[in-house]
Amino acid sequence: MEKKVLVLAEIREGEIRNVSFEAIAAAKKVANGGEVVGLLLGERVSHLTKELIQHGADRVITVEDRNLNVYTTDAYLQAIIQVIDYEKPEGFILGHTAIGKDVSPRIAAKLKTGLISDAVSVEVVGEEVLFTRPIYSGKAFEKKIVQEGIVFATIRPNNIQPLDKEPSRTGHVTSIAVDIKDLRTIVKDIVRKTTSGIDLSEAKVIVSGGRGVKNAEGFKPLQELANVLGGAVGASRGACDADYCDYSMQIGQTGKVVTPDLYIACGISGAIQHVAGMSNSKVIIAINKDPEAPIFSIADYGIVGDLFEVVPMLTEEIKNLKV
Ligand code: FAD
Repeated sequence: MEKKVLVLAEIREGEIRNVSFEAIAAAKKVANGGEVVGLLLGERVSHLTKELIQHGADRVITVEDRNLNVYTTDAYLQAIIQVIDYEKPEGFILGHTAIGKDVSPRIAAKLKTGLISDAVSVEVVGEEVLFTRPIYSGKAFEKKIVQEGIVFATIRPNNIQPLDKEPSRTGHVTSIAVDIKDLRTIVKDIVRKTTSGIDLSEAKVIVSGGRGVKNAEGFKPLQELANVLGGAVGASRGACDADYCDYSMQIGQTGKVVTPDLYIACGISGAIQHVAGMSNSKVIIAINKDPEAPIFSIADYGIVGDLFEVVPMLTEEIKNLKV
């Protein structure tokens, strides 16, 4: 059956996040030939509609309201619920991002419907939509079928291939007015703490440091390696707890869950709670001076050695490859 599927397009620093293009690709499957509708929230967003259409949206809804310029739970929840009431989509897909994780359960509760969170793939089998999602900290995968109500899911960044951009694609743009009131929070300022501009959850390459980096200075060679690879720097909780870096860099069960193409773990032992956040990376390289470190059991490539020798060598080699 064809479905109308809504996709929340997340905007960060004036640009649509890649996960939203991945959500469009997922929505295309769910729609099964039906309409995929992008949703843009915030003032002066109309210049972004074209990009959503080029990435596969058939139509885009803009909701221009100054209360939606930065994310707050109340404002987004009210706006999205009003759009859903008006549009009555049969599906709604958004990224499993900080915003997606915060707003989606509240939407599900308001709509009295189920939610499939953190899906890594979607397929349509006959009349049924089948989502795959990791369970037990990524040790196993379960398949979920939506049998009734709206097909509502968040998708994990970096798992579903976005559609190729088609510059010639066209689509309609509709504008919807919403009534946002009784906001309990107002964002006055946003202070970024991450070391590079690349969002960890969307980074294709992550160089991560653990307690083995010894101190905050020890992250410098990792940052240099990340720079030559065009990647971001992450950390274990061990490194965060020791105050070598900020908690916004923490990867793992109680940190960020990442699935880059390449994850380089430097001076990280490979505790189960860390592995929970990075084991689905496509290629894992571990650098550790202890040959018995558990991280080697999940690594595709292991380098037994001192990270302060190995990491600068890698950086130099990669620089040489590029010239
Ligand atoms: P360590 O275990 O101390 O390992 C340091 C490693 O560095 C060692 O293997 C050592 O051989 C190596 N090393 C030292 N010097 C060098 C060198 N010069 N060159 C190369 N290698 C070197 N952890 C997370 O990471 N993320 C989480 O989200 C998380 N959530 C948790 C939730 C709970 C409820 C609990 C209880 C724990 C959680 N932890 C989490 C903590 C986790 O159990 C580990 O304590 C932590 O991951 C260890 O960090 P580490 O690997 O950096 O440190």
